Amino acid sequence: MKTKKSANFSEWYTELIKEAELADIRYNVKGFVVFLPWSVMTMMKMYRIYETELEKTGHLPAWFPALIPERNFHLESKHVEGFTPEVFWVTEAGGNKLEERLAMRPTSETAMYQMYSLWIQGMKDLPLKIYHSSQVWRHETKATRPFIRSREFHWIESHDVFATRAEAVAQVHEDMEMARLAITEKFCVPFLFFRRPQWDKFPGADDTFAADTLMPDGKVLQLPSTHLLGQNFSKPFNIKFLDEKGESQYAYQTCYGPAISRIYAAVISVNGDDKGLVLPSCLAPTTVMIIPIYKKGGEEAVLAKCAAIEKNFKDAGMKCAIDRSENTPGFKFNHWELKGIPVRVEIGGREAESGELTVAVRDTGEKTKIHESKLVLEIPRLLSEMDKRLGAKSKAGFEGKIRDAKTMDELNKVLEVGGFARAPWCSTGFDGKQCADEIKAKTTGDVRGTLFGKDEKPEAGAVCIHCGKSATEVVYIARQY
Ligand SMILES: [Zn+2]
Repeated sequence: MKTKKSANFSEWYTELIKEAELADIRYNVKGFVVFLPWSVMTMMKMYRIYETELEKTGHLPAWFPALIPERNFHLESKHVEGFTPEVFWVTEAGGNKLEERLAMRPTSETAMYQMYSLWIQGMKDLPLKIYHSSQVWRHETKATRPFIRSREFHWIESHDVFATRAEAVAQVHEDMEMARLAITEKFCVPFLFFRRPQWDKFPGADDTFAADTLMPDGKVLQLPSTHLLGQNFSKPFNIKFLDEKGESQYAYQTCYGPAISRIYAAVISVNGDDKGLVLPSCLAPTTVMIIPIYKKGGEEAVLAKCAAIEKNFKDAGMKCAIDRSENTPGFKFNHWELKGIPVRVEIGGREAESGELTVAVRDTGEKTKIHESKLVLEIPRLLSEMDKRLGAKSKAGFEGKIRDAKTMDELNKVLEVGGFARAPWCSTGFDGKQCADEIKAKTTGDVRGTLFGKDEKPEAGAVCIHCGKSATEVVYIARQY
């Protein structure tokens, strides 16, 4: 890598995607990229981890069609208004014009809920919790960037139905906890979970809650959001059930959308370093890379030792490979550091003889000697220590970027260095939007919302950072991707 992450994050990101072969941006439809094997292998692991968490909480998988008839779209008016500008339409098939346009799903509410109305009849059908791993298409007008924003992205959406509003609210908490378990605990990416302001919620929702992380340049990247839909969709889509008294009731719904490709952008940005990718051990396509180092004539003994060590790792269930290419050892070290392999084992002539092997860990670069007989036990310990360090490092970096701001001057300063400004706020209603719009115009900062699950109140006598009216809330403001 030529560019240092701390010197120019944006350039570093572009260079990393090219050099580590994560995506190819040369595909000839604007806004669409090819996701390459090295990123897809990690994203498939991310899918599996997330899907396992969803299944633990009672969700079942389903595959819904990618095409949605236009009339479904029009059933919920705010939804159609919110999404229409981004929809790709299919208007022709087999050379004939279609009688009704079909939308390439930008999200699947209107595909799934018409089926839900057929499936749900009584209390025995509830709760219904279904997830759908797929890609969606949105004609983004903002500048696209691989993984961060593209016109096709890969995600999971879960769509849940309940008899009561209380159960739907509990689902929002469950979704947030799931995000913490996967994204923070396993992928080492911290975030804050916000209740979005009313003017910035999902089209058709009663309330939107979303996880925001910070990229190394201090700008916010939105990770999963979960939406309390209330009865806004169950009424037009006719999702009803007979309650205990035999009375017909509209159901309550939630939907949740972890975008795997975007979470991947956060994983590589937050954890990566000047040498390239740093991947938490559960996400690395290969965990251990063995590098043979030999002089002419010494190949046989070294390669035999490498093969024996590789077999030990594979027998222990670890993903391991040997770099047998013609490149120099130094080139191989750099290459696999760029690719984010967590552990490198170096085996030269002396190591092959003594069995004392050199082991390097990706994040610190530290080298230790470990006897081959202890390798299979020691490597998992090194990996778990590395994961803990990555988690602690990203948490410290994140928390250091949350600062208080009480005046517009302070807000400007916080946004200039990057990160969240925590500010007193007049209201999240209509007047609040006016303040938010003016703040956006003056500072390009966005009001992300109030912290979810923590009732943060402004100090007594505090006034809105913008208009000076009495403050009722504490909001977080940041520049966003
Ligand atoms: Zn105000």
